[in-house]
Amino acid sequence: MSIAENIHTVKEKMAAAAQRAGRSLDDCQLLVVSKTWPADIVAEAGAEHPLLGESKLQEAEVKIAELDDSISWHYIGHVQRNKVRKILPLFDVIHAVDSLKLARYTSNVAGELGIKAKVFIQINQGAEESKHGFSEGDLRTQLAELMQLENLDIQGLMSIPPASENAEGARAWFRQLRELRDELNQLDGVALPLLSMGMSHDYEIAIEEGSNIVRVGSAIFGSRHYPTA
Ligand SMILES: *Cc1c(COP(=O)(O)O)cnc(C)c1O
Repeated sequence: MSIAENIHTVKEKMAAAAQRAGRSLDDCQLLVVSKTWPADIVAEAGAEHPLLGESKLQEAEVKIAELDDSISWHYIGHVQRNKVRKILPLFDVIHAVDSLKLARYTSNVAGELGIKAKVFIQINQGAEESKHGFSEGDLRTQLAELMQLENLDIQGLMSIPPASENAEGARAWFRQLRELRDELNQLDGVALPLLSMGMSHDYEIAIEEGSNIVRVGSAIFGSRHYPTA
């Protein structure tokens, strides 16, 4: 199967999942995660679907320089403070703002650059040591300040739930993230419109549970052959 065919298949499965959930596919975007793949392969994906996700700045810079300007790039990796100034002009959305400190700093830098940064707030749902993100408790106490950061355009919540034995195991986590988002949205001054959740093995379930953007890599490119942490 070619990359274009794989993208097509993922889109068909997304459409079927949206239909099962009575949702419009217009509300579910596919972010093709191209991390670890070289520019020539990624170009094939970008030509088919110009919305790509990368998780390392240096690696992404090479591809962004080589590939078509029409591609929209999203940053999905852990954001190091000293990279924010470079990440902001290159990427349209940052998916993993994982602390209030980083959010404040990103807002300040965006202000200096004269832009509003589109970001998701990452939640560490399983309180896993190996993962970044706000705990639910910290999110609740820090949300008012987050929402007031002037140069952030907060898109919503993002999560990489704890690994499950099968895709169905992720459903409860996805549902929990949606319910948290819905609950917080009731608060004055809070707007968290979107959910970034679902990866290769569970994106259909994520869509059934309300995801607005699924981040899919290996289902499109095949297994990654070198570690990316
Ligand atoms: C690598 C990565 C993905 C894609 O993972 P696949 O299982 O290959 O689809 C999605 N989201 C994040 C944050 C990632 O780092």
